Amino acid sequence: MAGKVRLTGALSAPVSSVGTAWKRSGACRDADPDLFFPTSESSDVLQVKAAQAVCRECPVARLCLIWAMETNQRSGIWGGKTTGQRGGLKSVASRRRNRARRRDAA
Ligand code: SF4
Repeated sequence: MAGKVRLTGALSAPVSSVGTAWKRSGACRDADPDLFFPTSESSDVLQVKAAQAVCRECPVARLCLIWAMETNQRSGIWGGKTTGQRGGLKSVASRRRNRARRRDAA
């Protein structure tokens, strides 16, 4: 799913702990990249579901999701999750980190 990510130079390349080699194994590598970038994730429900169906069969979905979250992708379906779903996962992770910090400080 590298089609929509535009890298404008080495300094602006998104950095992730999982690198980018996994992209070569994505189930979407021969799919139309537009499938994964619906105009509206809330109204293009069938398109979102079609993209997520491809992701469900993907052997690198977990790495894809980690990459998208670590590089703060603000659009598209990555790792089977919409932008809104990734935001929800970030909120949960943030709350867990804050709880752990409070516990450690007590
Ligand atoms: S999880 Fe989905 S978007 Fe990511 S590489 Fe696999 S098929 Fe492509």
